[in-house]
Amino acid sequence: MPFDVSLPFDVVIAGAGLAGGSLALRLARSGARVALLDPARFPREKLCGEFLSPEAWGVLDRLGLAQDVERSGYEPIHRVRLTTPRARVLEAEFTSPDGLPGIGLGRSVLDNLLVQHARAAGVEVIEEARVTGPIVLQGRVAGVVARGSGGGGDPFELRATVTVAAEGRHSTLVRQTGTTRTRSRFRPRLFGMKRHLNVPDTTAEPAGTVGLHLVSGGYGGTCRIEGGLTNLCALLPESALRAHRGQLDRLAGNLFAANPALARLWETSQPAGPWKTVAGVRVEASIPRLPGIFYAGDCQGTIDPLGGQGMTMALLGGETIAPFVTAALASDASIGSLQRAYRAAWHRRFDRRIRLCRLFHHILINPWMIDLASAFKTVAPQLLTAGFEQTRDRPTNR
Ligand SMILES: Cc1cc2nc3c(=O)[nH]c(=O)nc-3n(C[C@H](O)[C@H](O)[C@H](O)COP(=O)(O)OP(=O)(O)OC[C@H]3O[C@@H](n4cnc5c(N)ncnc54)[C@H](O)[C@@H]3O)c2cc1C
Repeated sequence: MPFDVSLPFDVVIAGAGLAGGSLALRLARSGARVALLDPARFPREKLCGEFLSPEAWGVLDRLGLAQDVERSGYEPIHRVRLTTPRARVLEAEFTSPDGLPGIGLGRSVLDNLLVQHARAAGVEVIEEARVTGPIVLQGRVAGVVARGSGGGGDPFELRATVTVAAEGRHSTLVRQTGTTRTRSRFRPRLFGMKRHLNVPDTTAEPAGTVGLHLVSGGYGGTCRIEGGLTNLCALLPESALRAHRGQLDRLAGNLFAANPALARLWETSQPAGPWKTVAGVRVEASIPRLPGIFYAGDCQGTIDPLGGQGMTMALLGGETIAPFVTAALASDASIGSLQRAYRAAWHRRFDRRIRLCRLFHHILINPWMIDLASAFKTVAPQLLTAGFEQTRDRPTNR
């Protein structure tokens, strides 16, 4: 290790995604000694729809990343296009109060920008290190145990005053230190699959448009990103994965065939990278059982992917949690009440959009509803635009 492991960090953060990376950056800028661990070497691919809502510009600006994103070759996104198996189409504009577009940008680019900025701010970024559990001393979390070489290497310990779990869905630290409640019991279990594609102009989504192509029990989302690529990210029942014995190309060929727009795009495209998958996609929220640890981003709580809000929430969540972590560094005695106060602040800030996105998921995932709505050519797009607007903080404060 190039640093002294015996010297405790102020904060150790497991996971260098948007929540962990943005929190690390903020804390380092305020003078904390921070370690940030991730099993990946950056830049790395990540399963995601890769669409950021226009609201993200504000928090990217406050993090000092907006100019880099502007220079990244991102796709400005202005509208969403829903299509159904009966070839009906419903389009709605994204209206940001200050006219800023949504952002189509690969996670390999975005997350790497964040990691680079964190490193420049003095964060000890430890790549290829998988956190395997907490260090617990006298009933309190006091750091993490990790393994090098992405998880297959030697174990090592990192001590810290405050530990943050930011490993995304299915977190090891949350499983060992907290309780998770699911908020979506009444639906089939869903899984996500994503791949970058080269799509010819004739079948690609029109410029500035994200596609939401409905199929049985789920959808395929398409978003143009940097480099002329299209990101295809589908959310589908896990039963379909089992029925196709995990063969993703065969599954895509069969399920996407049901929707003419998606079928055309899929048939004419060339893969530009491997599939990435995640199972057990649920809306859930977690509560730590032990003092000394905070949960950030998807570790604290998840949102239905369909609203395109998870990444913005992870970045805004970094902003919400930072003062509580700073206060915990200043006063060890109040850690329990700070954990509770942070959770309350997180729920106040995000519960409304989580409920709305759940509602959208249940409405929009039914192709017959979109078939019906598409007949109301003026009202339905306006309603959809207004609905998406309600999922965001306003204004964007840029
Ligand atoms: C199918 C699907 C589509 C989505 N599409 C969109 C979209 O279009 N727009 C949007 O805004 N949101 C979308 N989301 C949600 C979004 O991806 C997440 O909400 C967001 O990435 C959460 O950020 P995070 O930093 O909490 O976690 P993540 O981005 O998941 O980052 C977690 C990090 O932790 C690391 N890690 C994992 N295990 C360990 C470990 N043991 N030790 C250390 N590090 C570890 C990982 O390598 C990763 O870098 C989608 C989600 C799904 C499931």
